[in-house]
Amino acid sequence: MMRIGHGYDVHRLAEGRRLVLCGEEIPYDEGLLGHSDADVAVHALMDAVLGALALGDIGKLFPDSDPAYKGANSMKLLGEVIALMRREGYELGNADITIIAERPKLAKYIPKMRENLARAFGCDIGCVSVKATTEEGLGIAGKGIAAHAVLLLEKK
Ligand code: MG
Repeated sequence: MMRIGHGYDVHRLAEGRRLVLCGEEIPYDEGLLGHSDADVAVHALMDAVLGALALGDIGKLFPDSDPAYKGANSMKLLGEVIALMRREGYELGNADITIIAERPKLAKYIPKMRENLARAFGCDIGCVSVKATTEEGLGIAGKGIAAHAVLLLEKK
């Protein structure tokens, strides 16, 4: 038994914020604005897991009106979503994440991002793909960073 899920998120870039993507802090003079640490890639990934299980979305699970999630570490929230996935009897088959950013350049951080996610899921690093692309200056990515996640869950 397999389930497919997709997630999408976008956050605005702003000064005075940390830039955290897939649990990796990236040195840059701007970061993403949000109630939590605004890890846009992990948000898309969590929505993909919840989408695969038809369990709603992270806005429902971790409402930004709840002060408990202010500045929240998104990797910790991912841990909660993974626990939910296991309660439903599923494990990650594979995940593919695309981060859309005009800046900064992300290529050198991708191995660490994949490691972080593989550790969270307890899976082989080969099951987790992270890619980065730009929108050639044509889209919204100049003002922020967006992410898509597609994944397959398998019933064990
Ligand atoms: Mg978000």
